[in-house]
Amino acid sequence: MSWESTTLYYRLINEATRERRGGFHSAPIAMVSVDFAEIEALQRSGDWHAAGAQLADDARAIERAGADVLLICTNTMHKVAGAIAEAIDIPLLHLADATAERIRADGLDRVALLGTRFTMAEMFYRGRLEAQGLTVDVPNSGDMDLVHEVIFDELCQGVINPDSRADYRRIIDALAADGTQGVIAGCTEIGMLVSPEDCPVPLYDTTMIHAQAAVDWALSD
Ligand code: GLU
Repeated sequence: MSWESTTLYYRLINEATRERRGGFHSAPIAMVSVDFAEIEALQRSGDWHAAGAQLADDARAIERAGADVLLICTNTMHKVAGAIAEAIDIPLLHLADATAERIRADGLDRVALLGTRFTMAEMFYRGRLEAQGLTVDVPNSGDMDLVHEVIFDELCQGVINPDSRADYRRIIDALAADGTQGVIAGCTEIGMLVSPEDCPVPLYDTTMIHAQAAVDWALSD
């Protein structure tokens, strides 16, 4: 969620499957696409328990549909990853783990995290990156607000605003000048706005990393 990035996941997973398997191959996917307005209202009111319960029900439906592995296609809702993982017997491919693994493989140990305020300010995601040996920088509080607002007011609604791209570039430049070695696009819509060319250090797009990790998982022995 939002569906803006769900479409990216769907395309990336199928493209990677075609690249790996060739011909007419595509990825068998069981998906629950939620009404994001309901989830966003629960996020805003702080009712994470209800959000976790709803997504746990959705995860059970996906398991019943025959999936072998589950992805939560948003960084923010990994806040309730524990409740979701407990509801199912199939493994959950955690987005922060897949991202940390990629960064560590590149030999980096200090990265900046951009995402919703929940993802940047709380420890459910940052802590998971830090547990894998990464030092995690975040923007100052004013810039965090800006990054968060662009996600909800623009990107989740399909709006790409060049002024917001310039704001993100300024924030990324400041983090790089402070010594960060890479930037995590830790919100599944950020890749719609910024690309590696906007970034003086490597950019880690979590949507791409997660989709690739899913295909690796599914096609491994
Ligand atoms: N897709 C976003 C994320 O990766 C934000 C929308 C949401 O709250 O799920 O965090």
